[in-house]
Amino acid sequence: MTPLVAIVGRPNVGKSTLFNRLVGGRPALVHDTPHLTRDRRYGETEYFGRTMRLVDTGGLDPEAAREVIGAGIHRQAMRAIDEADGLVLVVDGRTGVSAIDHELAKQLRATGKPVFLAVNKVDSPANDALVHDFHELALGDAFPISSAHGRGIDALLEAVADAVCGPAPAPEPEPEFDPLFDEAPPEEEKHDDNAPLRVAFVGRPNAGKSSLTNRLLGEERSLVHDVAGTTTDPVDAPFSIGSRNYVLVDTAGIRRKARIERNADIEKLSVTMALSQIERADVAVLVIDAGLGPAEQDARIAGKIEEAGRACVIALNKSDLVTSDAKKSELRELTKDTFHFLPWAPVTMISAARGDGVDRLLDLVDQVAKEHRKRIPTAQLNRFFADVIEEMPPPLHHGHQVTIHYITQATIKPPTFILMCNKPEGMAPSYKRFIANRLRDAYGFRGTPLRIFVKARKDRHKQDD
Ligand code: GDP
Ligand code: GDP
Repeated sequence: MTPLVAIVGRPNVGKSTLFNRLVGGRPALVHDTPHLTRDRRYGETEYFGRTMRLVDTGGLDPEAAREVIGAGIHRQAMRAIDEADGLVLVVDGRTGVSAIDHELAKQLRATGKPVFLAVNKVDSPANDALVHDFHELALGDAFPISSAHGRGIDALLEAVADAVCGPAPAPEPEPEFDPLFDEAPPEEEKHDDNAPLRVAFVGRPNAGKSSLTNRLLGEERSLVHDVAGTTTDPVDAPFSIGSRNYVLVDTAGIRRKARIERNADIEKLSVTMALSQIERADVAVLVIDAGLGPAEQDARIAGKIEEAGRACVIALNKSDLVTSDAKKSELRELTKDTFHFLPWAPVTMISAARGDGVDRLLDLVDQVAKEHRKRIPTAQLNRFFADVIEEMPPPLHHGHQVTIHYITQATIKPPTFILMCNKPEGMAPSYKRFIANRLRDAYGFRGTPLRIFVKARKDRHKQDD
């Protein structure tokens, strides 16, 4: 069974922020844990192919937070800790060690399980020294992290994965590359890490795109940028949150659109408009009226996002209208069905009107953008690929062997892979899908489409049969 890791800590240290960052906003269905129903506090994460289930103990019960302060760890949280294979104690680097931290550290140490100390809210390397205060908790090395900004998460995750999943497989040497026989991979698309992230809000009329836009921009912010003339296109609206820079594409279009809504065929128009926005964005946020639920038009827009190769987050807006749990799970099912062809897109609930979930939405936008431009080093990729081929070689083509020589990632945005193969025409589409699924299992790629191409490579020793 997939190992379970429990995230423990007193209230407000950032457990759920850490959980959300690791899970990426899409809690998994935990089928293999009998008495734990589909709780949104359970999810999955992975570190280079090593998958872990996660539980945020703070969120198990609304009462839990209060009781942690009182009588030690809440019973339900305790059960999660009992079941866990590894424990992460989250503390707040800014406030220093507290009595509750000591109490929790003691209880966790008593379990005899591997415990990792995550000192959160260390938002910049300048503050890394804050971890020294926490050595008195006697939990070994402390990991300085910033759940909010994503600092230090990999180091923590790697240590946890090593402890609960076993060590990573040894790397294998790079495959040989013969310039005489191998085609050069396509040119790398230029990517500037400092360039602002281009985000488009797309969806049907009245979903809440302008409300969301207005909430993010705010009068002052948009004004400042307009005056500064930082835009290349007057309909785009740059804005910043902390050190993160964004451009909302075609916000004027959203507003313009809102005015002609009463005219005919607005639904179709929303698709047409979405198209041009999607083209100009890195990340498309598909905004859906949660009160109405997703419809065919939404599926069509989602299809365009996938076709265009953009990263995608699905935002169910007007969460304030979906109050009952029954309605929520119904909505979740409907969303899953409608976007079954986009199983990789994270779904999140927001209320543009109230501002609920908007920060998390932006975090998701950041995460999917990162996945969208993720590059897997060739050595790692081929190590992964050797296992995949061993597990399931490509099917025969008219009775002939189809041989894949190697795999390479040609470009990012979206991540695009090339399979070098003796018989491209003989590669079954189902096998490409299989490879894509395995790539996702191993590397995540949450929120981004993947592309897989097959190219011919002549075997230099023998004729292809
Ligand atoms: P929980 O009660 O432990 O689940 O804590 P939350 O995840 O709800 O976070 C509590 C508060 O700390 C929220 O206001 C977060 O935005 C903030 N927070 C969480 N992680 C960080 C971080 O890495 N840096 C900073 N500066 N604030 C954070
Ligand atoms: P757009 O056509 O997609 O730009 O949608 P608007 O932003 O104009 O919103 C359409 C309607 O939904 C307006 O009446 C908004 O006030 C309302 N609305 C937007 N966000 C929310 C929300 O979170 N909750 C509720 N109840 N209404 C919302």
